[in-house]
Amino acid sequence: MQDALTQQQQKLDSLQTADKQHFIHPFTDSKGLAEKGTRVIERAEGVYLWDVMGHKLLDGMAGLWCVNVGYGRQSIVDAVAKQMQQLPFYNSFFQCSHPPAIELAQKIASLAPKHMNNVFFTGSGSESNDTNLRMVRRYWDLKGKPSKKTIISRDNAYHGSTVAGASLGGMSGMHEQGDLPIPGVVHIAQPYWYGEGNGLSPEAFGLQAAQALETKILEVGEDNVAAFIAEPFQGAGGVIIPPSTYWPEIKRILAKYDILFILDEVISGFGRTGKWFAAEYFDLQPDLITIAKGMTSGYVPMGGVIVSDKVADVIKQDCGEFTHGFTYSGHPVAAAAALENIRIIEQEQLIERVESDTAPYLQSRLQELAEHPLVGEVRGLGMVAAIELVKDKELKQAFDSAVGVGTFCRDACIKHGLVMRSVGDTMIISPPLTMTHNEIDELVAKATLALNDTYEYVQGQ
Ligand SMILES: *Cc1c(COP(=O)(O)O)cnc(C)c1O
Repeated sequence: MQDALTQQQQKLDSLQTADKQHFIHPFTDSKGLAEKGTRVIERAEGVYLWDVMGHKLLDGMAGLWCVNVGYGRQSIVDAVAKQMQQLPFYNSFFQCSHPPAIELAQKIASLAPKHMNNVFFTGSGSESNDTNLRMVRRYWDLKGKPSKKTIISRDNAYHGSTVAGASLGGMSGMHEQGDLPIPGVVHIAQPYWYGEGNGLSPEAFGLQAAQALETKILEVGEDNVAAFIAEPFQGAGGVIIPPSTYWPEIKRILAKYDILFILDEVISGFGRTGKWFAAEYFDLQPDLITIAKGMTSGYVPMGGVIVSDKVADVIKQDCGEFTHGFTYSGHPVAAAAALENIRIIEQEQLIERVESDTAPYLQSRLQELAEHPLVGEVRGLGMVAAIELVKDKELKQAFDSAVGVGTFCRDACIKHGLVMRSVGDTMIISPPLTMTHNEIDELVAKATLALNDTYEYVQGQ
């Protein structure tokens, strides 16, 4: 026993050393990470992960918002292996196509809102939003309105990390590095009632936040605005769910002005809200939908843009080449993974189960945590939620960021065998859609232990 443990420890040490020496991690303070050492995850099954030391963790984040069908799906492994043998790669340029990409485009068109029947494939969510930027500009050029170039987005939005993705996003920390946003992208305030509601009711604040879009359209000039881009609820920004008045008012504004609407469903797509797409959940009619993450449940990277008939009719008309694409657009192996992932979701009726059973259960169990002295607000919908930690519940007063409450709580979760992400001092949950009642109970029990530890920590500050 002792020997086995020593061996595991040696393996971890050598992996951490090599990691520190050679691996630059995404969104990471490399020096801080080197001091702490990386957590090396080795295998996974269902909703659980195991690290190199054999510690078992309940994955409250579905990897990174993406492993919707859970880990260890042999049928995806088989579909991928079979496709790799038959045709591991071929491009879809130069008059070529292949069965998996064709079949996947047709399948996604059948699941998407009725007015959306085309797909442009990419390798990630970021590439998909780059595609959106180029496609909306191309659309307006072809419509004879080349001045319509500006895209309106929102503060604290997340649309990826390429130059266009980070520009479309509204993360100030990302904009500071690399002189972003690029010209032609402007931002309005986010609909974050808990943090920025300023004493207004959620309904009044939602209207006000939506009306910022109209103000911005008038300021930039309708003739200069190509599109508005938004997540149905902000994910990486802290699971920010707009008040009920927000989307109806945005819809009214979009109907009034001739601009396109890009809905970034990289997190919300493929079942997270209890619908295939959040467009259905919030009753929205986007012109373009960004997809990635749950599209393949993360087994193989893939992304795409679902294109409405209105846009596709223009892009696909007799107008020459759309000079855009990626080597891996519609990659056959990724497409095979996506098709099997979708087949699993359908066969196991995961979306119906989320809507009628597990999402209501998760949300009601999480609401119990709202009583905790550290918790300012618990918010969520479908299989996604946030627990916002505050210094003073009554005054909604945040902790000084130097206290590092979110990071402490995240580490405490790990100690108790749970992965939750922290965005500032907001704890985020976005588990696999397969999570059962028992596993939800386990998640809430572990989160409670972590909150208690965190409470004790802040008392000592
Ligand atoms: C993750 C994410 C992206 C970026 O996707 P990548 O695959 O990481 O490039 C874009 N939009 C949203 C809403 C996301 O959550």
